[in-house]
Parts: sequence; C-alpha cells; structure tokens
Amino acid sequence: MVNEERMRKTFTDLVKIYAPSKGEREVCDYLKKELKKLGASRIVEDNDGSINGGNSGNLIATFNGNAEGLPSIALTGHMDCVECCRNIEPVLKDGVFRSKGNTILGGDDKAGVTAILEGLHLMKETYIPHGKITVIFTVQEEIGLFGSRNIEKEYIQDIDFGYTLDADGPAGSVFNAGPSEYTLDFICHGVAAHAGMCPEKGTSAIAMAGLAIAACPNGRIDEETTCNLGTIEGGTAVNIVPDRCAVHGEARSRSTEKLEKVVSQMENAFRKAADKFPEGSLEIKKEKAYDAFLVKESDPALRLFKGACSAAGFPVKVAPSGGGSDANWFGTKGFPSVLVGVGMTDFHTNKENLKEKDLYDAGELVYRIIEAESHFGK
Ligand SMILES: [Zn+2]
Repeated sequence: MVNEERMRKTFTDLVKIYAPSKGEREVCDYLKKELKKLGASRIVEDNDGSINGGNSGNLIATFNGNAEGLPSIALTGHMDCVECCRNIEPVLKDGVFRSKGNTILGGDDKAGVTAILEGLHLMKETYIPHGKITVIFTVQEEIGLFGSRNIEKEYIQDIDFGYTLDADGPAGSVFNAGPSEYTLDFICHGVAAHAGMCPEKGTSAIAMAGLAIAACPNGRIDEETTCNLGTIEGGTAVNIVPDRCAVHGEARSRSTEKLEKVVSQMENAFRKAADKFPEGSLEIKKEKAYDAFLVKESDPALRLFKGACSAAGFPVKVAPSGGGSDANWFGTKGFPSVLVGVGMTDFHTNKENLKEKDLYDAGELVYRIIEAESHFGK
C-alpha cells in the first residue's frame, strides 16, 4: 500500500539534513514545503520562529476534515536529533538502514516524521473521509521537550487526541503511560581552607555530599519509580578543603505520590548530611521536568489505534514507558496522546538502525489511523 520508494527517499533526504536541537531551521523549511505540497490548509511556525534560543519554532499544519462528525486528531513527531548528527550517510543494506558508523542514523525521529508524511500522501491519493488532522513537528525534544512544553495553545485547542510517532518497537507497539520527572540540583556549600596548614578551619563540601549520596535512594525503587544521581562536580585542588560540591539528579514515577515520596527522601538525605556540617550550608533546586500521562485502553485514542492495527494486521502491544516524550506535554497542554512505535533501534548511538519494513509499516499505520476515523465516529 505505501509507496516504498517515496518513503526511502523522504527518510534519506531528512536524515541527511543537519538538525541538532535548536538548529532545526533547515529541516523545518524542508517539511514546510512537503506539507504545502500535501495540501495543508494552514501551516504555521509558532513562537515567532524561535523557542529557547533555537532557530525554529514548532511546525504546525492543519488539514481540514472532509466529513462531518469525525474526531480531530494530531499526528506528531520531532524535528531535532541528538549529536552526532552532522553529515549522516544512511546506508540501506539487507533490509536495514544504518549510518556509516560515525554518526547516529537519525531514525529518532525521522522515521516518525517520514511515516506521518507517507500517511498524508496516501490520505490524499485515496480520497478517504477523515476528520481534521493537525500535524505537529516539534523542536528540541531531545534536550528537554522544549518544543512541546512551549507549544502555543491556540493551534492545538480543538484536538481530541493524538499520536506521537517517536518510540521503538514495530508498528502496533504503543506506550500509553509515562512518568512524571523532577530534576534536582543539590549544591553543598562548605568553607575553603588550606588542607595541609589548617584543615580544621575548613568545611568539606565533598564530605557533605558523600555522606548525603551514601544515604540517598538510588536506581529502581519499584516498577514505576526510579531515581538517579547522574553528575557531580566539586573542589578546586587537592590541597584545598572544597567549599562547593554540586550533585545533579532526577527522579521519575508514573505515580505522583511515589514521586513526591522519593524526592523528599533524596532531599532529606542531603538535609541530614548538611546538618552534620554546621559551618556549611545546602541549596536544593527542584524542577518538574514534565507531568505523567496516562491514556486508558478504553479511551478513544487507543480504541482507534487498535482498530487501525487490526485493519492493517499489526499485533497490538500496549505498555507503559519509562521515559519522557512530547506526549507528556501534550497531555498537560490539553490533548491526550499515545506514544507510537516506529521501529527505531539502538537510537542515540552510532549503532542506531531501522528495518526497512518497520519504516513502511509505520507509514501504513498512520494511513490506517486516518482511515479508521470514519469507522469510529466522534
Ligand atoms: Zn525521539
């Protein structure tokens, strides 16, 4: 059903464009042209074309519905890639796309973007009845979901539900829940002193941090809760009692209660340690990175997805995700979205690969989602 040659061309064209987070300009312009050719009724770039110091806004295109009473859906992907993504040379061999080995492949998320474009091509070519479709290509997903976090609400107001094509697993894989996340900075302040001459005049910020870290919860807490202290920096020289040590971490859970609990345990570990150093002090910075999302199996987004998969013959696999994605922010901003598998494998590494068949199936799936609308009703 899909035009395989067209998909191969779109995918390889897209990954060859250098598109790091904050540097999506060129890929955004490419996609604008494609969406125009596909007949979008409105194409906008939000936030006046720049978010968080980047050179592009989110690209949002609407396709008017051609039938009454059908749901208004969103199809979303992100335009940016993690580094190394300059001069990607995709190679298709034995049915698998890979890079030449010195870069990522960029299937995260150009596989999703390609699948959306192909679904729209098929929609146009087959004249199927459909509701309003909003295509959202976000920026800066990879560095903290800044695109979806800052998306302008006026463009997404009337969306009933959405599909974020940005996950691993073949067509039919879907993630219906994701965690909330806090990022945490613990900054231990001590007092500097010469370590050989007068260490008693000093207070070691590193000793304070060490005590705290030893008492801090770490790793998997339960099936839906994790936490991690990921980086640490402190001290200036071996002969100086360190007056500063900063520890950066995160905690995630699909349960708000459990998240609050593990975060307060982490904070308490640091507070207790700081209490043992009366000359020192502690600073804690805590920020909600994104909220949890949950789309129930009985919700329209998943019911329609299952209908689309059964029409295409793709087995459905519903699972919770442990990571954050644009779907988290779309839920917060007003429409529920599930995270859809497009086959990307070993992403964020130079070994990243994508089965040719998974790419075609993802395109087929997007078309089937649009097609399923008319059997679904609102
Ligand atoms: Zn991604």
